[in-house]
Amino acid sequence: MKVCNKCWTRNRLNRLASKDLLPVKEAKLCDLCEGLASEVAALIQSISNKLSNYEFNTVNIGLIIPSRLLEREDELRALTKARTAPTIKKYLAGVAVDHIERILQKRVHLAHINADIFVLLDLIRKNVGIISRPLYALGRYTKEKRGLPLRLRGDHENDSPSIEKILGGLLREYFQADDVKFTWIGGEDRESLVLGKGRPFLAKIIQPKRRTISESFRIDANERIRSYGLSITEFSLLARKPREPLRYSFTAEILCATFLDPEELPALIVRLPVLRSIEVTFEKSYAANKRRSLLFLGDFKLDGTQLRMKGTFEGGFDLKAFFQSEPGRRAMPSAEELLGLPLRLVSYDVLEVNFLISLNHQS
Ligand SMILES: [Zn+2]
Repeated sequence: MKVCNKCWTRNRLNRLASKDLLPVKEAKLCDLCEGLASEVAALIQSISNKLSNYEFNTVNIGLIIPSRLLEREDELRALTKARTAPTIKKYLAGVAVDHIERILQKRVHLAHINADIFVLLDLIRKNVGIISRPLYALGRYTKEKRGLPLRLRGDHENDSPSIEKILGGLLREYFQADDVKFTWIGGEDRESLVLGKGRPFLAKIIQPKRRTISESFRIDANERIRSYGLSITEFSLLARKPREPLRYSFTAEILCATFLDPEELPALIVRLPVLRSIEVTFEKSYAANKRRSLLFLGDFKLDGTQLRMKGTFEGGFDLKAFFQSEPGRRAMPSAEELLGLPLRLVSYDVLEVNFLISLNHQS
């Protein structure tokens, strides 16, 4: 077996006088590494421009190497009985990190879990790829203009704006990411306003090049989305992926039509019961039933012939079904049954969304 200098030292072969081992000067001729260190360096060099676009402190190196090298390494280890010498993969990963440091002129740490980026070196097919770990961010937005939908349905609307499209584009651009996936927390529809601290959302930022938020991020972002009536009121990166589903409650101001004689209304309003802690079952024709708590409903006020009220509900509570049960989307009991009034939902605005658990923020 021919062994180059580097592999000789790495495997601590000095004490082993074996006629099976022949030192060679040229790494290319080495049976243990076949000169792959210089190929690793060349592959890293070929992505030097890309690498400098990624913001990272930790890197994990993945290596695909010919299996014959692993077999020879096993053979050698059977001979030397050395179990602690660095393996060929560890050696080449070290070469890759050294080379990255040389290119970027900064310290980079090798990490096997949760590394900022993963560099995959395929030494069989001679190619290299960079995968960056997704970022998770928790934010809140407010919406001060009616009419902007959360997301669009169907292709015909593809050119019109939506909250998902606006915020997604903003985050994609800022983090130089391939894609952004949202989990929206709390209810809202096209005609709702979102007030107070704002509605929370969880964003998964996929393949980001940037991993930190600048001081002026929110100011700059809000400058650009103000014309839509949108504002990001909170935005921070999470240390890790949060457990879902996130539990929360929301408070809304609700406006309903009553269909009653305006003369009768004032006397009726004062007799309306304040509702607290009621379990409501939502029956759906296309999905399993779900139960959600109504935590509070009261603060009834007349607004012309319409009824205005405030309520706090467990996350996922279907206000539309509750105030306007219809076949395939029924609430049991419904608002009408609980309040003893025929009602039809006109609009609702989300005033506040609160988490029922605390989330870990990145420091
Ligand atoms: Zn070698």
